[in-house]
Amino acid sequence: MIGQTFQSEPVPTTPPAAAAAISRKRKHNSAAHVILNFGLALLFVGTALAATLLLEKLLPYPFLFAFFAAVMASAWFGGTAPGLFAVVVSTLVVDYYFIPPFHSFAIGAANGVNFAAFIACSLVASWVSSNRKETEDALKDARDRLEVRVAERTFELEKSNQGLREREHQLRLLTEVIPQQIWSASPDGFVDYCNQRLLDYVGRNIAENQGANFMETIHPADIESFRDSWSRALSAGQAFEGQWRFRGANGEYRAFFTRAVPLQNDAGKTIRWYATNTDIEEREKAEQALSQVRGELARLSRFLTMGELTASIAHEVDQPLTAIVAYGHATLEWLSASPPNIPEARQAVGRVIQDGTRAGTVLHRIRALFRKESPSKRWLSISDLILELVTFVRNETNRLGVSIRMELAPNLPKIHGDGVQLEQVLLNLVMNAIDAMRSIKDRPREIIIGARLQHENSDSNILVSVEDCGEGVKPDIAARIFDPFFTTKPQGIGMGLSISRTIVESHGGRLWVAPGRSGGAVFQFTIPLNS
Ligand code: ADP
Repeated sequence: MIGQTFQSEPVPTTPPAAAAAISRKRKHNSAAHVILNFGLALLFVGTALAATLLLEKLLPYPFLFAFFAAVMASAWFGGTAPGLFAVVVSTLVVDYYFIPPFHSFAIGAANGVNFAAFIACSLVASWVSSNRKETEDALKDARDRLEVRVAERTFELEKSNQGLREREHQLRLLTEVIPQQIWSASPDGFVDYCNQRLLDYVGRNIAENQGANFMETIHPADIESFRDSWSRALSAGQAFEGQWRFRGANGEYRAFFTRAVPLQNDAGKTIRWYATNTDIEEREKAEQALSQVRGELARLSRFLTMGELTASIAHEVDQPLTAIVAYGHATLEWLSASPPNIPEARQAVGRVIQDGTRAGTVLHRIRALFRKESPSKRWLSISDLILELVTFVRNETNRLGVSIRMELAPNLPKIHGDGVQLEQVLLNLVMNAIDAMRSIKDRPREIIIGARLQHENSDSNILVSVEDCGEGVKPDIAARIFDPFFTTKPQGIGMGLSISRTIVESHGGRLWVAPGRSGGAVFQFTIPLNS
């Protein structure tokens, strides 16, 4: 069916020949025809004369009825004028041949009445005959006109039927050739039509793919969500859409984007459902591949950032380890004293545990940032995340003489997000801020990290900002700094902001840059509370 060529039926452009012939039939008024009619009248009268002369030999009186027949025949075939002509000729012939004195046009006084009766009867016969003929002609004419009308109407109907058939054919063709699966359902949701593309995909005929059978092709893991959406749409009479997997004829599932809309009557009652399934399997695969690549890039970027931080991380871990060793020695001394100083030893062991835990936390964080993990969201406090991050970069900022001020609104609601990813965003922004202030000599290097609640229209967000007092972002590059691989740093790879924006957007938020209060840049991002 799909891929067939469309051939339209020929549409009649002229009325049928029969109608034209019928309309031609009525035209009979030529001179030849008139002459023929009068000739016929003469012939009929002549025949009547011959018959009467013949019969005269057999009968005792002249059989004049033959003339009535001649008059009637003339009037019938020729109409009123030839009929009257036949009356005149018959009258003369009868007078001449059969009214005494014979062979003369004189009329004897005794025959006057008979002769007048003959003329009167002839006239009546002519009138009756021509009248009958005219009535019959009129009827025939009316019938002919009717036939023509019927032929014309039939022709018009045929033409409009053909137009309708052609439009219907084109519509059906449209539903078959568009690159989408189409299905429709009754108001109660019973799927009763699937286009050929859909049937070809599932490898069934329409009877095998209706109602519950249709639902049976949906992936078991998706069926519940499909039924939910479908039944909610049915009861609300509102369009629904979503992404579900449908099983193909080969038994494999492919992802489709389904959208169904109701057709409603003037009273707002749903009279039918129409839906399309768009195959998005390839797009899904491409997106998965892309997000895998993005994940790898994000990891690479983290790796590079961590590379930069190696010295301070080493210091961060080294500090508690040194302290642990020192407290360990002290503990030994307190214990080997005589008598052993148990309270001091206990205190020293407490410090060992404290510093061990601190070192463990740092290592845990590093491991988390390096681990190849798929994003996992949980409820977390953005303030805690910022505090952890600040602790993490403290050595680096101390080393470069950068101070960090925090403006965190109290009691911020928790957000639903991936802690490692959001920490990476914060780390990128803070490391960029540190980089932006490297050349600053004339003023204190300060980073302000803020977090507060923000209401935008009817949505509530957490707004996080990282502000520095560096050179700021020059307007000519501001539009490009979020592009992948855009960098102005000799050692930069230009992926930090691009990855950060992707992460923020995957949390339903936005990331942008604006001029800071003291000439530097302020990078801000939002995380919606309903994400
Ligand atoms: P990279 O740090 O490797 O260059 P990023 O994507 O993190 O990659 O940053 C891209 C570019 O954005 C930087 O090279 C820099 O020009 C600009 N930029 C980022 N943060 C700041 C900032 N805080 N102040 C000024 N410019 C910045």
